[in-house]
Amino acid sequence: MTWLEPLRSSVPELEARAWDSVRRLADELAGLVASAPPAGDRAARSRWLLGLRRRLAQHGHRPPAGPVAAAVWQTLAQFCAGFHDLDLRDATGPGHGAMILTDADEATAQSWRGRLHRGELVGIAATERHGGSRIQEITTRARLRRDGRWLVSGEKCWVSRLMESAGFVVFFRDPDNRISAAVVDAADRGLEREVIEPFGLDGWAWGVLRLHEVPVGPAADLVGPAGTGLDVFRRHFARFRPLVTATALGTAAGVHTLVVDALAARCRVGVLPRVRDNAMITLGRTHAEITASLLAAITASRLAAAGHRHAYLAARIGKAAGVDTAHRAVTDLAPLVGACGFQQASPIAKARADLTGLLYADGIHDSLYRSGGISLLHRSAASAVAQPQTHHPRTKTDTAA
Ligand SMILES: Cc1cc2nc3c(=O)[nH]c(=O)nc-3n(C[C@H](O)[C@H](O)[C@H](O)COP(=O)(O)OP(=O)(O)OC[C@H]3O[C@@H](n4cnc5c(N)ncnc54)[C@H](O)[C@@H]3O)c2cc1C
Repeated sequence: MTWLEPLRSSVPELEARAWDSVRRLADELAGLVASAPPAGDRAARSRWLLGLRRRLAQHGHRPPAGPVAAAVWQTLAQFCAGFHDLDLRDATGPGHGAMILTDADEATAQSWRGRLHRGELVGIAATERHGGSRIQEITTRARLRRDGRWLVSGEKCWVSRLMESAGFVVFFRDPDNRISAAVVDAADRGLEREVIEPFGLDGWAWGVLRLHEVPVGPAADLVGPAGTGLDVFRRHFARFRPLVTATALGTAAGVHTLVVDALAARCRVGVLPRVRDNAMITLGRTHAEITASLLAAITASRLAAAGHRHAYLAARIGKAAGVDTAHRAVTDLAPLVGACGFQQASPIAKARADLTGLLYADGIHDSLYRSGGISLLHRSAASAVAQPQTHHPRTKTDTAA
């Protein structure tokens, strides 16, 4: 909360109770992480992470009512989780299950709301071999069965939460060749998984998800109406990317705090005679950059929850810029504690590796910046067309705008 307290006035939609609940979450997280198994023990960590998610769900760590307050609360919750470890990015909240809650049929949404409230997890299966940045070209396909159900077959790669998810939102071509999304239960016998070892972010299993004629009911299982998969994807990532960004910034803030504490302790015991200027400059600059990016992520969450037309742009370029900021901050901060931060067991080394994964996951950065640039150019072109070509002298209203 040391990082968040000064930002209290920037989140007026969080009333005192909601703010206190962020504080309670931060406190409980700080207690729970003490019992985390070592990062090297993958199976134990995956079990522990899922257990932690269930426990926090049972303890009622949930956002307040109202879409904007809920989005802002979740953004701060992600920052608190990331502060301890990027693996805690699914500690609270519906995550990718949000697509089901907002876009699925009422009965399906209701059933998944209960499961998510009990701490179950939902994964997303969108990326394919040809490239995740080109979702419009997906080839996973559904064929129509005689009884009206669809059978989905194809291969998804780089899927996170591969073994832990209770369900996946899968993107595929429907029998009319349009892109649709559906929720598939993880227990379906038509699912085959191949786990791949990642370079970082290894708390949750990651890899290939193959679908062999997985049945989907177009009435109950679709997430959004048939053919609207791309809209579901875009709307979801307008909400989800600011949360990813806040988690990454939390991780950078955690490393910043470790480095400050280590330097202060070394000075106290006399190992360091004084902290050099270059270290102090890095500490000041990275603190300002992390805080500014977090405020931008909160704004992006708020815009998405309010359905603002700027939300997609803010989420795309905000994720790329915010995660870049976090990654650069940790890269700059790590050398300030010397070689001890380079040990495999160091949380600083882990944070560096984990943040590298977020440069790809949830949108690769050159594609996000590029699509942001395209939107900005279109916007400028559209406003030029909307404006009469004749020259108008500036008015008071123009200046105010
Ligand atoms: C840790 C991690 C977790 C992930 N979790 C999930 C998950 O849960 N579910 C899921 O579906 N996916 C997941 N992904 C996949 C992630 O979304 C993709 O990695 C991301 O979308 C980028 O896709 P890609 O890796 O296939 O790269 P590509 O899309 O192939 O892009 C690679 C490069 O090629 C460039 N490029 C693309 N098209 C062109 C072109 N026409 N000409 C020139 N260059 C081009 C891109 O800009 C980029 O620089 C995860 C990835 C990681 C690393």
